[in-house]
Amino acid sequence: MTYINEDFLKLPGAYLFSEIAQKVTAFKTQNPEADVISLGIGDVTQPLIPAVTEALHRAADEMAHAETFRGYGPERGYGFLRKAIVENDFLARGIEISEDEVFVNDGAKSDTGNFQELLGKDVRIAVTDPIYPVYIDSNVMGGRTGELGADGHWSNVVYMPCCAENGFVPALPQEDVDVIYLCYPNNPTGTTLAREELQQWVDYALEHDALIFYDAAYEAYIQDDSIPHSIYEIKGARRVAVEFHSFSKTAGFTGIRCGYTVVPHDVTASTKDGQRIALNPVWNRRQSTKFNGTSYLSQRAAEAIYTPAGKLQTKQAIDYYMQNARMMRETLTDMGLEVYGGTDAPYLWIRTPKGMTSWQFFDEMLHKACVVCTPGAGFGPAGEGYVRLTAFGQHEATKEALERIKRQMTI
Ligand SMILES: *Cc1c(COP(=O)(O)O)cnc(C)c1O
Repeated sequence: MTYINEDFLKLPGAYLFSEIAQKVTAFKTQNPEADVISLGIGDVTQPLIPAVTEALHRAADEMAHAETFRGYGPERGYGFLRKAIVENDFLARGIEISEDEVFVNDGAKSDTGNFQELLGKDVRIAVTDPIYPVYIDSNVMGGRTGELGADGHWSNVVYMPCCAENGFVPALPQEDVDVIYLCYPNNPTGTTLAREELQQWVDYALEHDALIFYDAAYEAYIQDDSIPHSIYEIKGARRVAVEFHSFSKTAGFTGIRCGYTVVPHDVTASTKDGQRIALNPVWNRRQSTKFNGTSYLSQRAAEAIYTPAGKLQTKQAIDYYMQNARMMRETLTDMGLEVYGGTDAPYLWIRTPKGMTSWQFFDEMLHKACVVCTPGAGFGPAGEGYVRLTAFGQHEATKEALERIKRQMTI
């Protein structure tokens, strides 16, 4: 008999985006002339910058000649890219990270999902609520979460609600937890943590012998200089934090696929008999068994982001989205909506007015303004009563969507 890993069967269907798609399709069938604008997608819309496409062309040409052809690359990623990452993202900010602490990945989703494989079955995880679903779902697959209750909470997971009432700053857990997932700037709320707030988390981890898995996918959107770009800006973090980066939102790499994970040599976990084990070599062992690297083309493309032209062009693309975010914040706030995020992240988190549920407000926005948002409840129980709007649209479409929301909806 072939038995299935029943932990996979505990996962509810990925219903959020399919339910949105179903509702949008039904609406379009009933209103064939309606021009629906989506401010719901979490994907970028601007094309790759020239520095990147030039690097891709050059790399493709190298692959076309026997003398410069490349097959399997080094398992941690090519040295040229790890060097550029360390120099620009860490040394330039005064952070000591060495090249062999950097693992090039094919995007942060894989590594944020896979890293839990290094943990024992019985570690207790803590997550902010609302949350990027990968952190919990991968731990469900790993058999670590218990059962899903009717309230939307897994029985063995500690939830740290983030809502307007606590300024979207998660409270330190009362009970002991072993691994804490943090994502800042946050998806979906678009909020950030101040340096002192992040320091409290690092101190907690040091004190409780816990680890922090820090997702910095939106780091490039930070505008306020006082907000940390990396958890390693915080004293003590080298001992307790693994950090995930992605070029997806930084440079429109959602279709190219490249990012990196930092596993400092000082990060350890314990065996049952109390021996400390460094995670860096274990992660290397895992990767060299299960992963054969991201493509040479993707890595050359990523390297180009760090050239002077690449930096300038990347900043322009981010400014483009942040201009949308500013326009969205202004318009929606003027209408009387409660708006969070959108200053250091490409996401705006809107409180639904008049006590509407997030799905009710989704329906109203779709039917009255022909604009698609993402219901906050889809990101966790504490997301109920909010919707997420993204700044990843084209300017014109975003402007049109805002005009319609203003004209057609009463708050
Ligand atoms: C988009 C996103 C990522 C990046 O995913 P990739 O696999 O690199 O495309 C990681 N974390 C969060 C929270 C995201 O929203």
